[in-house]
Amino acid sequence: MTWSFETAREPAEFAAAIDRRTGVEHAAGRDRTLCGIDMTRLDIYRHLFRPSSGCSTCATAAAAAPTEPSAQERLHDRVLAAAASPLRDRVIAALRRGADLRLGITGPAPGVARHYAKLDQVVEGHAALATALDTTGRVTISEVVDPGGNFVIVHADGATPVIGRRAG
Ligand SMILES: [Zn+2]
Repeated sequence: MTWSFETAREPAEFAAAIDRRTGVEHAAGRDRTLCGIDMTRLDIYRHLFRPSSGCSTCATAAAAAPTEPSAQERLHDRVLAAAASPLRDRVIAALRRGADLRLGITGPAPGVARHYAKLDQVVEGHAALATALDTTGRVTISEVVDPGGNFVIVHADGATPVIGRRAG
């Protein structure tokens, strides 16, 4: 099967919510569990809902839930908002081919710049990345693996993503 955004979609995941009264595990929705229990009666756990050991109504609803876009599709949709450039076109083409992703980290820009951006290896888009990272706010950094040199995407909340490329 050819890789595509359609074939790469992933099953929806739900947080586990335990009913304090019965101890039964349910799949957490926004205000209610998938089987309809008011969330205020439940404790949310950090692990995902486990259909095999939890409420069977939630398990059926979780299995029927729409799939979610892959990481590539989600990053692709964000990169579409970047300024048009040949570099952006190359990232979009790589993501549509299902290129592997590395990183995908959100944190304060100074730490991201120091530990993950590796600006000294960036050969294209260096100034734009440095500017995007020159903030005390939070940014997300993603890396798209490409034989011609990995692409680096940085974006702050509400800002246009900025793209660079490391040496191949
Ligand atoms: Zn349930």
